[in-house]
Amino acid sequence: MAGTDLNALFLHQLKDTYFAENAILKALPTMMEAARADDLKVAFGVHLKETEQQVKRLDAVFRSLGEKPEGVTCKAIQGIIAEGQEIIEEFGGSDAGDAGLIAAAQAVEHYEITRYGTLIAWAKQLGLAEAEPLLKETLLEEENTDGVLSDLAEEAINPKAA
Ligand code: FE
Ligand code: FE
Ligand code: FE
Repeated sequence: MAGTDLNALFLHQLKDTYFAENAILKALPTMMEAARADDLKVAFGVHLKETEQQVKRLDAVFRSLGEKPEGVTCKAIQGIIAEGQEIIEEFGGSDAGDAGLIAAAQAVEHYEITRYGTLIAWAKQLGLAEAEPLLKETLLEEENTDGVLSDLAEEAINPKAA
């Protein structure tokens, strides 16, 4: 699957997303540790388990294309994670730190939501019948996580931080 057609673009985007999910898998334990509120720690822990499955789903998407799973550097996720790290360094251990951690995590989720949205649209266009439902399953988890974090922020963490 080489060249510059939509198939090649799909594969490139898949590799970018694979890199991103693996980077997120490494960052989540740090975020869990930095979180002060127990329910935020739990939310990060739940999403860590989901992310492990998301990497496996991407493995399955690569397999369905007859490709081996590999990443290409995603500068966007590196930047988003680095910003989260900055927040931990400056605000870690404070109630505002938890609000900042949620904001950082939601930036990650939103990045993922755009990537999976695009991958799903391209999979549909390309008739990749095995890939599409796998990608959709992950997109639902990212959207759900985003919602859980919003609720947590608005109902508990932001009022406490203020
Ligand atoms: Fe993910
Ligand atoms: Fe990227
Ligand atoms: Fe996610």
